[in-house]
Amino acid sequence: MYKLTTGFFVLNIFFVSLAQGNSTPFKPAESCASISGSKSEEVPVQKISVESPRKWSSLKSQIADIIKKVNKKFDGLLVPDKIHVVLDEGAGRFTRSYPGINEIDLYILGESKSLSLSDIANLVHEYGHFIFNLKIKGMTENARSLSGAYQEVFADVLAVCFLGDPRANLDFDAPSATLGRNFAEVILPENWHNNEIHDIFWPTRGFLWSHILSKPQNIDKYPVIVPLILETLVDQITSEIGVLEPDAFGSRLVGSSPAEINNRLITSLGLKLAQFSENH
Ligand SMILES: [Zn+2]
Repeated sequence: MYKLTTGFFVLNIFFVSLAQGNSTPFKPAESCASISGSKSEEVPVQKISVESPRKWSSLKSQIADIIKKVNKKFDGLLVPDKIHVVLDEGAGRFTRSYPGINEIDLYILGESKSLSLSDIANLVHEYGHFIFNLKIKGMTENARSLSGAYQEVFADVLAVCFLGDPRANLDFDAPSATLGRNFAEVILPENWHNNEIHDIFWPTRGFLWSHILSKPQNIDKYPVIVPLILETLVDQITSEIGVLEPDAFGSRLVGSSPAEINNRLITSLGLKLAQFSENH
C-alpha cells in the first residue's frame, strides 16, 4: 500500500480502520467463503480473475501468471481459493486490498503493455495481505486489529523474496515516504522512532535482509523461510496482545516504543530462524 496520493492514502486508512474496528462491515471469517484457502498442491483450483479496461487487456495473463508463480515459489504457504484483480488508473501508484474480500485494486500508469517491477511488487504485496489474512482468520478480533504492522512486514517480505530485490517496496517517486520499507539498509531499533504501521518495522526489515534473506545459501530456502517468517509474525501478534494496540485510525502501533517493538520481533525472528542465520 503506497502513500503517494494523499487522497487514496486517506481512503486506504479508512478501509483499514473499517476492517479493523469493532463496527467493521467486513468480517473475513463469516462473510467470505472463498478465503478458506487451499494448500499449494491444490493451487490449480484457485480461481484468478482479472478485470481490466481494453487498454490494459494484455496485462491480464501476466497478472494471473505472477500469482501462479508466487504460489509455486512459496509452496509452503496457504493461499486463497479465489483472487480478483481490478486494474484501474490512479494519480499515483497505489494498490489497496480488503481484508475478507479477495480483491486487489492495482493502479497502472499510462498505456503499459507489460507490468513494471513496481507493479509486480504492488501486486505481490497485496496478495501477501490475503495470505496473511488466511493465516489469522481464526484469531480474535483483538489479534486481528493488532495485525496491521505485522501484515505489512510479511507483504513486503513476499515481494522482496519474489523479486529478489530488497528495495522492491520503495516508491521511487516518493522515496522518503517509503523509507521504512527498505530492507537494504540496516538501522538499529534505538535509532528509529516512527510507529506508522508501514514504517515501524524498518529495523526488523534490515535485520531480516542482512542476517537471513541476503545470504546466498538461503536464497533457495525461501520456500521454507518465508512461511517461517509468517508463522513468527503471527505468533508475535499473540504475544503482544495486552501490550500493544493500534491507534484509533489503525495506522499506528502504540503501547511500547518502536525500538522495544522491533527488538521483541527481531528476537523472535532470530530464535525461529537461527538455523538459517548461524553462518552470518
Ligand atoms: Zn500493505
